Amino acid sequence: MRLSKMYIRTLREVPNEAEIPSHIWLLRAGMIRRLVSGVYGFMPLGFRSVRKIEDIVREEMDAKGGQEIHMSALQPAELWQESGRWYAYGPEMWRLRDRNEREFCLGPTHEEIFTDIVRSEVSSYRQLPLNLYQIQTKYRDEKRPRFGLMRSREFVMKDAYSFDRDWEGLDQSYRDMYDAYERVFTRCGLVFRAVEADTGAIGGSASHEFTALSEVGESEIAYCGSCDMAATSERAECVNDTPSDEAELPLEKVVTPGTKTIAEVAGFLKVDEKQTIKALLFRVYGEAEESVSYVAAFIRGDRELNMTKLVNALGVPEHAVEFADEAEMGAVTGSVGGFTGPVGLHDCKILVDSELVGLKNLVAGACEKDHHLINVNYGRDYKGDIVTDLKLIKAGDKCPVCGAPVKMARGIEVGQVFKLGTKYSKSMGAYYKDENMNDQLIIMGCYGIGVTRTLAAIVEQHHDENGIIWPMSVAPYHVIVTVVNTEDEQQTVLAETIYQELLKAGIEALIDDRKERPGVKFKDADVLGIPVRITVGKKAAEGVVEYKLRKESAFSEISAEAAASDAI
Ligand code: ATP
Ligand code: MG
Ligand code: MG
Ligand code: MG
Repeated sequence: MRLSKMYIRTLREVPNEAEIPSHIWLLRAGMIRRLVSGVYGFMPLGFRSVRKIEDIVREEMDAKGGQEIHMSALQPAELWQESGRWYAYGPEMWRLRDRNEREFCLGPTHEEIFTDIVRSEVSSYRQLPLNLYQIQTKYRDEKRPRFGLMRSREFVMKDAYSFDRDWEGLDQSYRDMYDAYERVFTRCGLVFRAVEADTGAIGGSASHEFTALSEVGESEIAYCGSCDMAATSERAECVNDTPSDEAELPLEKVVTPGTKTIAEVAGFLKVDEKQTIKALLFRVYGEAEESVSYVAAFIRGDRELNMTKLVNALGVPEHAVEFADEAEMGAVTGSVGGFTGPVGLHDCKILVDSELVGLKNLVAGACEKDHHLINVNYGRDYKGDIVTDLKLIKAGDKCPVCGAPVKMARGIEVGQVFKLGTKYSKSMGAYYKDENMNDQLIIMGCYGIGVTRTLAAIVEQHHDENGIIWPMSVAPYHVIVTVVNTEDEQQTVLAETIYQELLKAGIEALIDDRKERPGVKFKDADVLGIPVRITVGKKAAEGVVEYKLRKESAFSEISAEAAASDAI
């Protein structure tokens, strides 16, 4: 490709919006452009690198037997209502209606859609195991979109879903994906760690996050120098916890026969002792026209004692109980009246009880009839900001496995794998018939890679003060041939010859044939980060050129033939 013809504009100045290196350099190199907050378009060079990452992901997924499909980003609410997540997802989900008022969302993820496909098309054990994946655009209305591609509201994700007959099958599928992820991120040139993670809103029984190490990363990981404990800081506290024998129940929406008003409930709370009632306060967002928010409460176990006490005091059924702290409520009562739509959980904040992790089967809801969920589980159904209120593990704390001091590192979550088990197959009825013609639940896993976030993570780990330094595997082009003076015919001819040689050999090459000053061209070549630069200047007459790797500062003077063959 000729830079003189290429649709590209590099920027001299650091754009105001950009704070971290990947965001700055991707903008300055003209690889991405912002449309609105958290929404970016890819320009020719940026898009080439995205496709390279996608191809690496594809190769590694296919090598493990994954089969690529492509589902719609537009998803009907009904499927999410079946799984219960329509009510639990919160304002990060981009919801919309069609002309007939039917509800949809732009998929933040696709568990429901893949489960739906498989439940209607898989009937026999002979069709399993199955691994289906797609590389597709996801939508999340992030509260704080920032850092360019790192936390955007529209982004490309590879999401894969495994369907197995039994738990041993899931273990194998999970291991396969874990291996594939290690290969993908290694090939992308990332330094990363796979760490034990929370199962979050996705749910399930086990999970690992793949975290690219970086100071600007939003994830914090805890690891041990003495044993192989490595976990997200949220998770590390409970790495060694014995799992509770109380099972997680599927999230359900329940109809409540009327509740007390917030004021009545708050009044009650005030006179009662907050300390003995283990309650959590949540800000619950409704889906009304204006963005309504108000406070509702969640109640946890010690159920016999406290629930009875509460239920008696309020005269309502157990699952309808909710209360709010008066002070918190004051700011928001005005908007309560406007609430009409389903409830999402968001912005969790602990006001009364901070012993939260691992709590099971809570009651959640709003002071509104028909707006309650039962069996809400921490981690599985909500997380929100609650983790910021928890006591996270810190550097120097004892490793929960071996007791040695824990170390901390920051990183970027580039991928995550989950054992889902039967969470979705149970709530959505995905069964297969076994050898004896008995119905069995399909055992599932899900596996995500943030393709566009990976691009940003690569730049975070591969740049210097002059620009990007692409690893060869994801570089938009491999070689740039720079003509120092385009007026000089010898230079032009020699550069052209080298360029054609490279193309013939299948090398992805750029030629900077623009009528620009040499300084501008060198600066741009550095910003763009093309791994090899061949500079054709004054010594063209002798057939000599400069050969330089972007990652090194020194260059060598070699013959044009040697330069072309070195690059090849
Ligand atoms: P985070 O903790 O950063 O919010 P997540 O845990 O919500 O991410 P997952 O649901 O695990 O994300 O999605 C799979 C992958 O998609 C993530 O590992 C990440 O690489 C990518 N991803 C998630 N949210 C975003 C986003 N807002 N912008 C870009 N990539 C994202
Ligand atoms: Mg998220
Ligand atoms: Mg995460
Ligand atoms: Mg995740």
